[in-house]
Amino acid sequence: MNDAPLVIKGGYVIDNHGLGRSDIAISPEGLITQCENDIEISSDQRVIDASGLYISPGFVDLHTHLREPGNSEAETIVSGTRKAALGGFTTVVAMPNTSPSIDCTSMVHEIRALAKLAVINVEIASAITLERKGEGLVNMKAMADLGVVMFTDDGNGVQDSSIMDKALSYAGELGVVVAQHLETNSISTGGLANLGPISQRLGIPGIPASSEEIMLARDLILLKNRNAKYHAQHISTSGSLEIIEIAKQRGLKFTCEVTPHHLFLDDSLVEKFNPIYKVNPPLRGTMDINEMRRGLLEGTIDAIATDHAPHTLEAKEKSFSEAPCGIESLDIALGIILKTFGLDIKDQIDAGKFVRVIDALTTRPRNIISKSRQTSLLSVGARGDLAIFSLDEKKEVAKERISPYGGLNFFGKVIYTICGGKVVVENGVGNW
Ligand SMILES: [Zn+2]
Repeated sequence: MNDAPLVIKGGYVIDNHGLGRSDIAISPEGLITQCENDIEISSDQRVIDASGLYISPGFVDLHTHLREPGNSEAETIVSGTRKAALGGFTTVVAMPNTSPSIDCTSMVHEIRALAKLAVINVEIASAITLERKGEGLVNMKAMADLGVVMFTDDGNGVQDSSIMDKALSYAGELGVVVAQHLETNSISTGGLANLGPISQRLGIPGIPASSEEIMLARDLILLKNRNAKYHAQHISTSGSLEIIEIAKQRGLKFTCEVTPHHLFLDDSLVEKFNPIYKVNPPLRGTMDINEMRRGLLEGTIDAIATDHAPHTLEAKEKSFSEAPCGIESLDIALGIILKTFGLDIKDQIDAGKFVRVIDALTTRPRNIISKSRQTSLLSVGARGDLAIFSLDEKKEVAKERISPYGGLNFFGKVIYTICGGKVVVENGVGNW
């Protein structure tokens, strides 16, 4: 419950249905009560002036590493959700590769207890297998009964086809999503960067596209016989997109995501041997990036998910071969994405592209983890989760940040984030 009902006035509204103008009223209970032009204000309502700003549903990140428990020097549920709120996210799905991993009901209770201090919604992904070892399945029913929204061994792909088949079979019965980190260990082991002309010239052991594509193809073959919800995580190669296009054209139902870094950064950056560019799947070549952009705009790639994976300075200061994989971007993802698609110049915006990109951050990912399909997140009765951003203001990324984006700046600064009717970010600053 919040202090006052809200009215957001004067902004442009953008969601999967289009770009237009509307005021939005939110009740103290945190639900949208009106979505129309020129809402009359009553004396108890707090007015947020959104003139010149863009209002979208709060962003939903299907792939967030909050690092707690086990590596709270790198991130905690509190610090990670604050970054997410600053980036306009109102829901994140916490990955289970914590230490210990989220593979039993007591861990779900533990995360829920820690998430009481989170400033936005934290949904939980369970591991598929115990300790993410790819051997024994977790008790999927018990985890599903507790409301975990996804099962994934993220960080590891499930190598054993029969285990994956069983997981899909149970997922079909339980109505839950199984998501896969696409990596075939027998092919990728020892690799540090995309296998291609650049890694070959530099003598860096390569990770071929086939590592990802073989597991994707195998999973889709298994999925044909299982009535399950399947989600391919962080796809990165043109071959993966081709497989997905063929499978979807043939009527197979499943979803997939791409990260901001696989849309924006290419493998030439590893020439610097700087571990800030080390990530799994690796940064790929320009052709792959162009295909990821095409797949996203055409809607074949459903969602943009950050794979926010922070590390300490100490960890990322190691050599390229020793440093851990991961790029973090929760608070700047919107700006990176808008720049990627040329949506950062206000007077030249392609509305169709803009709508698709916002859809990939909001309605589509929301529906991937929702039991019931929602056609509009900006309608009466929907949760009062909003991101309000400016295309006139830039967000500056600190130069010293351990990030490929350090020293850059991006239009698309989030001015307000409203979660369940509560203003958690105000004038670009966290309310905490
Ligand atoms: Zn992964």
